[in-house]
Amino acid sequence: MNTILIVGAGGVSSVTAHKCAQLPQVFHKIHLASRTLSKCHLVAASVRQRTGREISTHHLDADNLDESILLLRTLRPDLLLNLALPYQNLTLMEACLATGTSYLDTANYEPREIARFEYKWQWQYHERFRKQNLCALLGSGFDPGVTNVFTSFAAKHYFDEIVELDIVDVNGGENTESFATNFNSEINIREVSAVCRHWENGQFVESPSFSTHRTFSCPEGIGDFEIYRMYHEELESLTEAYPSLRRAQFWMSFSPTYLRNLKVLSNVGMTGIQPVDYREKSVVPLQFLKSLLPDPGSLGESTTGKTCIGCIIRGTKEEEHRTIYIYNSCSHESSFAETGSQAVSYTTGIPAMIGAKLMLQGRWFEAGVWNMEHFDPDPFMEDLNTLGLPWSIEEHDPFLKANRP
Ligand code: NDP
Repeated sequence: MNTILIVGAGGVSSVTAHKCAQLPQVFHKIHLASRTLSKCHLVAASVRQRTGREISTHHLDADNLDESILLLRTLRPDLLLNLALPYQNLTLMEACLATGTSYLDTANYEPREIARFEYKWQWQYHERFRKQNLCALLGSGFDPGVTNVFTSFAAKHYFDEIVELDIVDVNGGENTESFATNFNSEINIREVSAVCRHWENGQFVESPSFSTHRTFSCPEGIGDFEIYRMYHEELESLTEAYPSLRRAQFWMSFSPTYLRNLKVLSNVGMTGIQPVDYREKSVVPLQFLKSLLPDPGSLGESTTGKTCIGCIIRGTKEEEHRTIYIYNSCSHESSFAETGSQAVSYTTGIPAMIGAKLMLQGRWFEAGVWNMEHFDPDPFMEDLNTLGLPWSIEEHDPFLKANRP
């Protein structure tokens, strides 16, 4: 019997719980644990109402190693899905090693006190997982996650050599909030404010955040958006996996309103991550700001429009130059109708479920710590098509607008 433990009860976790519950033949027993037990109850009630399945709920502070080990020893899951925050990754990996549990997450570890996210901390666990015949799958969300799989699928089927990669993440959604982030606001603001890094001729090159941008025309009439180059974690693993890459860049769309608000908040110190003293209390400004911003999990009802995330890959096939664009577009409204969550949670929660499914089926299981591009992309791509995130491939370069068919 396959038993999973999902940790965290936010937007992404809620989608994963719903989608796992839709596959009783794979996910026989589902446990959900988080810091705020009442949020687990809300997810469980929604899953019951939508799928008729029961999931069991538990309290867990995943920053506490002993508590995490005790819960894993009690529940004895085959796999832990860490859908809490990147701060918890190392504690939960330690707890998995202590209890013989395999591990999956959607975002790489970052220490609370430095806004720097790198795989090096988690890659160091490779030998320990390998020796215990456990598998850890890192970054099984959309980006990272599906973007890694799109790249490995292209490398496997469309190219002899890939030379350039542009990952483009557009959220064409709109809602009634004047300033909101579409996933955990503390993590989101840390990520978008970081110094930009992109891969150029064998090394990462730094530039100020938001300093490079361009207009991007999405397919399917989704519209034109201003996209900004920024650092994103899959660049680290993909440039290792594909040393032929001469350039690799990540781009994300931001609205002028979002950027204006972020600038003001940053100028007045509200995005700071170092504690400040306020009336004899120590307060981290960004954590206080998070408490004022809308909960991304609550945005589903009011969000309209689509996300459009994909990879533009350039390279050679039989000595001819070739460019392809692989993407998925996802409607906020239909995501909400199915799971009660907006499309950013939906597009992250489904790949987490698919990664877990393939691990439990043994199709993506190898002892050690792995990023998504390590495994055969084909079963993952098949599951994306049938389990909620169908993709399309166009043979042209969307950065050359005149080229669009
Ligand atoms: P939310 O803030 O909505 O949810 C996070 C959940 O984790 C909350 O339920 C929170 O509990 C819980 N949590 C936080 N700290 C602890 C702890 N110490 N112990 C137990 N539970 C804890 O975030 P999202 O659902 O938006 O994002 C979840 C993860 O997905 C993040 O790591 C994010 O970076 C990642 N992500 C990845 C993407 C991808 O494409 N790869 C895209 C979007 C997100 P509480 O309610 O008490 O705060």
